[in-house]
Amino acid sequence: MTDALFARIDDRRDDLIALTQELIRIPTLNPPGQHYRAICEALERRLSARGFSCELVRATGAPGDSDRYPRWNLVARREGTRPGDCVHFNSHHDVVEVGQGWTRDPFGAELDGDRIYGRGACDMKGGLAASVIAAEAFVDTHPEFAGAIEISATADEESGGYGGVAYLAEQGWFAPERVQHVIIPEPLNKDRICLGHRGGWWAEIETKGEIAHGSMPFLGDCAVRHMGAVLHAFEERLFPAMAARQTAMPVTPEGARSSTMNINSVHGGEPEQAEDYTGLPANCVPDSCRIVIDRRFLMEEPLEQVRGEVIALLDDLADRRENFRYEIRDLNSVIPSMTPQDAPVVTTVAGAIRDVLGQDAAYVASPGSYDQKHIDRIGKLKNCIAYGPGILELAHKPDEWVSVTDMLDSARVMGRSLERLLLP
Ligand SMILES: [Zn+2]
Repeated sequence: MTDALFARIDDRRDDLIALTQELIRIPTLNPPGQHYRAICEALERRLSARGFSCELVRATGAPGDSDRYPRWNLVARREGTRPGDCVHFNSHHDVVEVGQGWTRDPFGAELDGDRIYGRGACDMKGGLAASVIAAEAFVDTHPEFAGAIEISATADEESGGYGGVAYLAEQGWFAPERVQHVIIPEPLNKDRICLGHRGGWWAEIETKGEIAHGSMPFLGDCAVRHMGAVLHAFEERLFPAMAARQTAMPVTPEGARSSTMNINSVHGGEPEQAEDYTGLPANCVPDSCRIVIDRRFLMEEPLEQVRGEVIALLDDLADRRENFRYEIRDLNSVIPSMTPQDAPVVTTVAGAIRDVLGQDAAYVASPGSYDQKHIDRIGKLKNCIAYGPGILELAHKPDEWVSVTDMLDSARVMGRSLERLLLP
């Protein structure tokens, strides 16, 4: 029976290429969040013609949603002929900015040999197209299947997912009584199963000073020097402590198996002037300096401990350093998510990878987060993985591409997974 499914997937090779190209050619740039409705409607046209009932859901009031840039999502569902589990494929439809350095048209979706080029080719319109082809081929091969298949195309993953999966989860779309298995076709390579991701905590730290004339800095108090002391304390104490911590999560690349922190930005003193300003800076001692930190943490570290560690360092400076004053503002936080390796969706996809590729699946976890966090925390669904075609390292880069062969192979794995879950 599997041969019949694989033959149907192979027959759709041209269709898969055309669908991937169609999706790439809709420039769903985020920010600001363009053409979300257009891409949802394109998928709705296709899937409703194939027996899926489709619903367009606007994340009204979610961060980023406005009448100019509405946050549209599509959920398509195809019922089987008898009760059973629901398998949900969730892809984000937004893409990041183009950036510099392209030699191909970022929205041309050029096919060159085995590769389709374009922004979003690998992250993750190729994975979305592969899941559509897999589901359609499965339904054609096994019209009598049990349970249900859902395909969603969701907004704003690249900016936190609040206008996408988080909104849908809040509205109950991922409730465990509706959906039992979730596969997110992010570009993790066709032979790897991604079990989850690290957590993240973003905060702004501001040191305070006192403005004075720059020729007499002793009459003021330099906030930038105070921030220098903060950065020094991070170098001496925080970074070594983080590097010493290792997670049991199979995070790749290896360097991300420790805790990490990026200093996202530093702003001190006068605001930067417009580019056409030709004057000199005014002579002032800066009374404020701000940094944004991006702290990525492990499932072994509770968020409160992560915050507490930074705050303890700042409080220690306040004790030791004259006039040191600071404020800290939480910007965002994301919990780590990790699906157990014996969860049904994991063992199913691992078996399908063996069936299709003749090899054992590799298990990984992601250094950065993706929409699994919302399915886990809000949807309360632990049976979720990322699995899809594409090479993660190409994501967000110029000349991003996806391999047609990899899309076909992963469509076979997805189709085979549906057979394992939805056939008696
Ligand atoms: Zn992505």
